[in-house]
Amino acid sequence: MSAEYRVDLDAFARNLRRVRDAVAPAQHMFVVKDDAYAHGLDVLVRRAWNEGVRWFGAFDVVTGAAVRAATGPDARIFVWLIGGADDLAAGIAADLDLGIGDQALLDDLAALDARDVARVHLKIDTGLHRNGIRPEAWDAALVQTSDLVAAGRARFEGIWSHISEASDADDDDARALFLSAREAARTAGLEPRFSHLAASAAGFARGEFREDLVRVGAFSYGIRPTGGPHEAELGIEPISTLVATVTAANPERVLLDVGSLHGLPSALSGRFDVATPAGPRRVEAIGLTSLTVAPWDAVVGETVPVFGRGALASATDLAELIDTIGEEIALRVSPVVPRTYAGQLG
Ligand SMILES: *Cc1c(COP(=O)(O)O)cnc(C)c1O
Repeated sequence: MSAEYRVDLDAFARNLRRVRDAVAPAQHMFVVKDDAYAHGLDVLVRRAWNEGVRWFGAFDVVTGAAVRAATGPDARIFVWLIGGADDLAAGIAADLDLGIGDQALLDDLAALDARDVARVHLKIDTGLHRNGIRPEAWDAALVQTSDLVAAGRARFEGIWSHISEASDADDDDARALFLSAREAARTAGLEPRFSHLAASAAGFARGEFREDLVRVGAFSYGIRPTGGPHEAELGIEPISTLVATVTAANPERVLLDVGSLHGLPSALSGRFDVATPAGPRRVEAIGLTSLTVAPWDAVVGETVPVFGRGALASATDLAELIDTIGEEIALRVSPVVPRTYAGQLG
């Protein structure tokens, strides 16, 4: 056996319940970009659906269509990376909720020869400048949207934004912009059915940011914020473990096969321990497919948890050693490492 990435689906279900309770009465939109943060989209979406999750945040249209295939017709699936007219048509065909952050997409929508009605969530840029309609263009976008609604081409489903969650003061400014954009929409006769701007951190910590939907990725997977509250305080738990296999051992060192990590950052060399049957041992060197670990009485084929659930360090613990975020460590587990699942699949 070689390396594997083990996902505990019952722990995942516990996190989902925790998120649901924390954001209620808002609904949890479960964010599944990057192959469900590298845990495997299909399996996690199916389990989430069976746990009662009804909204999914899928990033792009291709991922949105994959979520649709896994859930069936009743899920609400929000996507916010839309490349142009073809993407719009594909998104409408898959009955996705479309996050529109660019006026050019409203033009594309008007020009589409589509019989189906697009579900539009307009994005106001509240300061991150990633995408989103700038405040100075907002009124024009509202006029365009009203025209589309009047022509039966669009339904105005929502208004949304994305905030940094790095400073409360910045988030407060962003929220003030968001609320005034919503007022302007109402004045223009566009009443959003769903307002959403928070992700994991603000969704848990700040009630006034929850609105109707909270787009939670990280905490669903048990990934806590760098420098922030610990899992126990948040009521979440890591759900996955990178498990490595001993491929060679001698009195000086033990080699562990980790499949491929797209390079676990070499800056972590010498900085963390793995839990061996003989106790903690330091990781001395990090290669592309293997770790060199301080010796113990190792047997070839023995397995060792490297990070995550049941290991000595979580993804975020490792991230903090090198000033990054837990997602970045988790996303390095290469797709070639097999995912294995414990607990009920669907
Ligand atoms: C990734 C993402 C989220 C989820 O963020 P987490 O911090 O992982 O909960 C929410 N909204 C948007 C637009 C995102 O890109």
